[in-house]
Amino acid sequence: MRNIFNFIYRHRLDLLSAFILFALIFFTFIIFPKEETKNIINILENKTFDIRQNIIAKDKHVNKDIVIVTVDDPSYEYLIEEYGDWPIPRNVHAQILNFIQEQKPKYVAFDFMFIKSLNRIPNSDNLLIESFKKYKDNTYTAINFDDYSYELRKPPILDPKLKSNIKFNSNKILPERFSNCRPILNELIQVTENIGHINTPKSDDGFIRSIPAIINYPKFNNDNYNEYEDNYYLYMTIKLAIDYLNKYENANIKELVVDSNNNLILGNRKIPLTNDAQVILNWYGETGVESDKTFQYVSFWKVLKSMQAKEQGLKPLLPDNFFNNKFVYIGTNVFSLSDIKTVPTSKYLPGVEIHATLLNNILDNNLIHKASVPYNIIITVVLTLMAVFTVFKIRSVYISVCFFILFTGLYLYFSTYVMTKYNVWVWIIIPVAVSIFAFVCSFLIKYLLKSRDFEYTYKLATTDGLTELYNHRFFQEQLRLNIKKSDKTKIPFSLIIIDIDFFKKFNDKYGHQAGDAVLKHVAKTLKSCVRNEDFVCRYGGEEMTIILNNTNRDTAVRIANNICNTISSREYELNPDLSVNITISLGVATYPVNANTPTALIEYADKCLYNAKENGRNRVGFIE
Ligand code: GH3
Ligand code: MG
Ligand code: MG
Repeated sequence: MRNIFNFIYRHRLDLLSAFILFALIFFTFIIFPKEETKNIINILENKTFDIRQNIIAKDKHVNKDIVIVTVDDPSYEYLIEEYGDWPIPRNVHAQILNFIQEQKPKYVAFDFMFIKSLNRIPNSDNLLIESFKKYKDNTYTAINFDDYSYELRKPPILDPKLKSNIKFNSNKILPERFSNCRPILNELIQVTENIGHINTPKSDDGFIRSIPAIINYPKFNNDNYNEYEDNYYLYMTIKLAIDYLNKYENANIKELVVDSNNNLILGNRKIPLTNDAQVILNWYGETGVESDKTFQYVSFWKVLKSMQAKEQGLKPLLPDNFFNNKFVYIGTNVFSLSDIKTVPTSKYLPGVEIHATLLNNILDNNLIHKASVPYNIIITVVLTLMAVFTVFKIRSVYISVCFFILFTGLYLYFSTYVMTKYNVWVWIIIPVAVSIFAFVCSFLIKYLLKSRDFEYTYKLATTDGLTELYNHRFFQEQLRLNIKKSDKTKIPFSLIIIDIDFFKKFNDKYGHQAGDAVLKHVAKTLKSCVRNEDFVCRYGGEEMTIILNNTNRDTAVRIANNICNTISSREYELNPDLSVNITISLGVATYPVNANTPTALIEYADKCLYNAKENGRNRVGFIE
């Protein structure tokens, strides 16, 4: 037990600094939960995600079986010219669907909603519904949920066949709830159940990094009472992927299960979900432009032209069977039709490419999952400890800074590596910020301790242990400095040498202990008689000196007399019954009038002192 106390006592400063450091780190953790701080951290962390995504995108390969038929700007202009307005009559979509389906693709998915209230031309709508009916096994379309108030739009009651039964073995996940939905053609719902949602939420900075895999929409009964319980709807591409896995890979997915690790299990594929049932996409680089690295793009107008050419027996723009065995997404990338900003790896709008990316991610089983909070905290603690150790264990500042940069760099590399290799998103901002903070604090503490150490050593080296006056070494050094200063400023300074009278006798009579006590008493009195900027030193034995800054001889003599009188007038109490009187003799020398070297100055003052002794002591002496 004593050892522990001893240890604590000996290392009290280190323990205190360690405590302060951890208190600071703890404090930073406490302030994080504040909403604004959290937002800033999220935005910055998302930016690090974007950088990592851009770095690793070049190593990923898109599935060239995924083809995007895009209503790009040229197609949009062509369609407006041709049909006058957007949306175009639905018989055009029907024709396109028929044209593609005849080439036997795996799937055709419209990233369009066939809205009930928009541009309805009955014959045209019927053609689309007929096509959907014909190809209902592998054709998909979309709905979109929102939160419009009931007064603006009565929420449509969705056919139960559109919802998905999902068993949650994790209670952490809460799919986002929506209270309304944009009604699409009822007749379409009647002929197909291949309808999924296409909600795309944006992050705080307007970028799309994830999509809601599962959302929650109420079932309404007659008196408008709504019930969210177990009423889940899947993202369109997830529905399509489940169908594909069942049909082509015999995945045999009957009941959807979210396991205790928050993964939506699709046979041997996993879709990692965030707490609000979102999926973080793993992007494939530039979107919206065709290249080797991106999905196959074909403009909507090109498909239309090919279709017309085929009808007229002309040479089509696209090869025959272009869509054979392909996953075909039909959607828009056009700026004017979208308010979507962009994605981490591209300045172009992703539009329909979000679906292509998600499908490709599911097929490659490489969706991003976030490392769990405890894991991130362990990383933070390890980095922080390393930062603290580099400061306290490495002497050189440069080397510790280099080390710090090195392992922070290694960590950044590690964070990118685990995203490439394991599709894991580990935090960067919090661990790096906390370790930088710890690094800086450690330096401050280290130098604080060092300066305290230095102060202590300096005091030891310059102070007399008994009287706590400056010691002989300090006196000599200070005298030299004062001469230098006086030479420069041309202002004189003075030296007083003091010797206690009959001190040998005092010691003999009262003992050395009493003598020591008197020395302390005299030292204290001397200090009280001069200014703070003057130096009172113990010259040796019972002799003391005072350096009076900027003081001429007359003033110095007056001060010396005052000191002499003060000492002799004070009674010193040895014990409650015995008080004694002591006296001192003094000699004064002034620079430069009495001497111009340190030795000569001391000699002059000494002579004066001798004179005082000669003339009866208890006085200031002069050279006659
Ligand atoms: P004088 O008036 O001529 O100065 O007589 P003095 O007895 O004081 O003579 P001197 O200055 O030569 O005496 C020095 C004495 O001071 C010797 C020693 O006993 C005493 N002394 C020196 N240093 C210490 C100390 O640290 N503690 C104590 N108690 N006495 C000391
Ligand atoms: Mg003496
Ligand atoms: Mg003496």
